[in-house]
Amino acid sequence: MEKILIVDDSILQAAQLKSILEDEYEVTTAHTAEEGLSLASAESYSLILLDVVMPGMDGFTLLKKLQEEIITQNVPVILITSLTDIENEQYGLILGAVDYVTKPFHPLIIKARVNTHVKLYQYRRQIERQSMTDQLTGIANRRQYENYCLTKWSEAVRLQVPFTICMFDIDRFKVYNDTFGHPAGDKVISAVARKASAHLNRSTDFLARYGGEEFVGILMGDSSDKAFAHLKKIRQEIENLHIPHDPSVSQWVTVSIGGVTVIPQWGSSYASYLKIADTMLYDAKKNGRNRVIWADEKMKQLYEK
Ligand code: GH3
Ligand code: MG
Ligand code: MG
Repeated sequence: MEKILIVDDSILQAAQLKSILEDEYEVTTAHTAEEGLSLASAESYSLILLDVVMPGMDGFTLLKKLQEEIITQNVPVILITSLTDIENEQYGLILGAVDYVTKPFHPLIIKARVNTHVKLYQYRRQIERQSMTDQLTGIANRRQYENYCLTKWSEAVRLQVPFTICMFDIDRFKVYNDTFGHPAGDKVISAVARKASAHLNRSTDFLARYGGEEFVGILMGDSSDKAFAHLKKIRQEIENLHIPHDPSVSQWVTVSIGGVTVIPQWGSSYASYLKIADTMLYDAKKNGRNRVIWADEKMKQLYEK
């Protein structure tokens, strides 16, 4: 059950609101702004119903304080008040209230408004969770990649600009883990992510950890020649980190990269191009690793070595 906080100095009013909402929500009431503030900071509410006129700290002041706190600033606040003039309503909305309800109110209307804002808040949290970063490397995670890729692909289709997608995979990484241990392996994943993202830092570049020791990159607007050259440079830079690998495998830790550059056609999907990038990566592995293999706009393969 989602939690709702009611802050109202009138015990009667708070009880009435509570009775309207408590069959759908876990409702807590506070009768002063101070009490409301401490509850809001301690618990995670999905909505706050806030009275404006209260002795001591008023609702507007509490709203301002809630907006200043990182933990409470995104929680939607509905002001419920007997102040019916436009100026107060405008002030409340400018302060950041999501809605403004004047007394007397109809229970069904309160319920409908609350439901709407709780749903919006749930949606917002869901989006935020999805766009979280990868914990180990600090770069985007796969979910963010999915969202980003979809948006950028549509943009590239609309603007008819070249779209590049590439996959990186650390070479013989199982051997690395077996030799140096998993924690050392984690450090390598982070170092590779750092180096690659340092070279994919334009506003039109994107890098995500796709899974395990694999990364996916997106570049917008570059021709296949340019993108291919850039990824060769990144591959070289990663080799130049000179992270010792198990000598039976290679001197340094390296990556193989497969990529593709296209001018997206209407009705086509990026997923098929991720597959092509993956096929190029597979070829890079087959051809000896530590190399980049590309598919250009005409699906001609470009080989690094
Ligand atoms: P290839 O050159 O063909 O890519 O060989 P590989 O050994 O890198 O390929 P494989 O896919 O067989 O092994 C990937 C290894 O990556 C296996 C797994 O233990 C390791 N790995 C995956 N995720 C993590 C991680 O988060 N941390 C560490 N340390 N290792 C990981
Ligand atoms: Mg792999
Ligand atoms: Mg690998």
